[in-house]
Amino acid sequence: MMKKETVLVVKEKLAVAESSLIERDGHAILDQFGRTFDYLRIAVNEKCNLRCIYCMPEEGVDFTPDENLLKADEIIRIINIVAKFGVKKLRFTGGEPLLNKDIVYLISNSVIVPGIESVHLTTNGLLLEKYAVDLSEAGLHGINISLDTLNHQKFYEITRRDKLDLVLDALQIALKLPFNSVKINVVVMRNFNHTEIGDFVELTKDNLLTVRFIELMPFDAHQIWRTGKFFGADKIVEELKTIYLNLTQISGSSTEHYVYQLPGYKGKFGVIPSFTRNICQNCNRIRLTADGKIRNCLYSDHEFNLRKLIRDGCSDEEIGKLFKNAMWQKLKDGYEAQNHSDHHRESMTQIGG
Ligand code: SAM
Ligand code: SF4
Repeated sequence: MMKKETVLVVKEKLAVAESSLIERDGHAILDQFGRTFDYLRIAVNEKCNLRCIYCMPEEGVDFTPDENLLKADEIIRIINIVAKFGVKKLRFTGGEPLLNKDIVYLISNSVIVPGIESVHLTTNGLLLEKYAVDLSEAGLHGINISLDTLNHQKFYEITRRDKLDLVLDALQIALKLPFNSVKINVVVMRNFNHTEIGDFVELTKDNLLTVRFIELMPFDAHQIWRTGKFFGADKIVEELKTIYLNLTQISGSSTEHYVYQLPGYKGKFGVIPSFTRNICQNCNRIRLTADGKIRNCLYSDHEFNLRKLIRDGCSDEEIGKLFKNAMWQKLKDGYEAQNHSDHHRESMTQIGG
């Protein structure tokens, strides 16, 4: 049996060897506008146990048959390859990722991939109570819980299910576990929940939590965003400034355009202009749909069929090339991408929000 010191030396040597492999193979994933892509968002499901009005109709959408969804080991292979090209951050999303029976396996096998620095999950929280400890033990770094209202009736109206208490309980559990970050995603809608902005901010008083106010985006088949519910980032900021006179802006992640913290509050809150899109110049995201297509922009429906390539028996090099090729073709911003698209996807669940 090897001595403890010897094991440590071997581990160190392996780490050096791995990092030099990352460097040697490490032609980063770039585009023509000087952006570098080091963040992969992976949809691991299209199905969901909620029916948020801006996302999915009650009857669901035309779900992809299971055999055409990427399997866990295919996803792990992809992660290992993109990590060699500089991808450092991963997010599992969907659909509802906790409905994927392999989610814990996916997390525990991605946190150990050399080069991957953090692994995150976006969930509606319904199954979180059941999985929270397993996710934490699997090494998940951060968790985003989507929650648009703190009011039971409104929760039912928006999600078409009466499950608010499950989400609130899950949030408390998540806050007690050693995740590096716990965030709440709030899609702000006029005359629906924009009056709750202050209530969400108050959650940051005693909790080490980030609340992210997000603009509604036009990604649902029924186009509810056309019904006057859109409430822009500028309006959200205005509302915040009306409620809190002493707002202090601090820096946040590249997509949290405005980030604030109130004096004496433990947590912080941010505003994300996901529709007005003045964040495109900072984009570092690659998206992989549950059915295995690479998308170089949320607003672009030009997709690159990775699943087919993989199932045709391609090499790791070919997978790397497809990612580089897909991202090189990324257009300057979301407006250009939208102009070139005809939106064949019916819901965010198919893109991976
Ligand atoms: N089911 C999980 C959840 O809800 O957290 C993960 C998938 S969901 C598609 C990811 C995020 O996309 C959620 O925060 C949701 O609120 C957001 N989303 C879905 N449709 C949207 C839309 N039309 N506009 C803005 N955000 C949207
Ligand atoms: Fe499900 Fe998330 Fe879409 Fe709501 S936003 S229907 S929870 S996938």
